[in-house]
Amino acid sequence: MSKCINCNKNEAKIKFQVFTWSGIGKSNVNFECCSEECKKEVEEFCEYVNKNVMKFFILIFLGSFSFIPFIILYNIYKNELFGALGLTATLGLIGVAIILFPFSTPETNSKLGLRKAKKVTRIIGYVLLVISIIPVIFYLIGL
Ligand SMILES: [Zn+2]
Repeated sequence: MSKCINCNKNEAKIKFQVFTWSGIGKSNVNFECCSEECKKEVEEFCEYVNKNVMKFFILIFLGSFSFIPFIILYNIYKNELFGALGLTATLGLIGVAIILFPFSTPETNSKLGLRKAKKVTRIIGYVLLVISIIPVIFYLIGL
């Protein structure tokens, strides 16, 4: 048998299905877990994904385009602070989206196990958040 989808440590003993997001839409997805505890964790996370997947996409979408108003302001005022803020807004919003909703691909989930995949994704979010502040700091210290 394969390994537990949640902890990626123990052998999977329980097979079950959850109606959840599977990349392009919601469908019944098969999971294999080692224990009731891991099964419960997977079910709760799937519920969280179902509830928040649209919010996640909206935040990523807003983040991807949030530099546009700052580029316009930069063109009007020729102040580099707006360029820095544009980068901060884009990276910061994407970072926040990933921290709040640490959703990774099904491939990553099965490779690392759901529990670890969530942690790694959140760490990437925090790294983005820290990086997002750098342009403004550079502007403030005059680099
Ligand atoms: Zn497990």
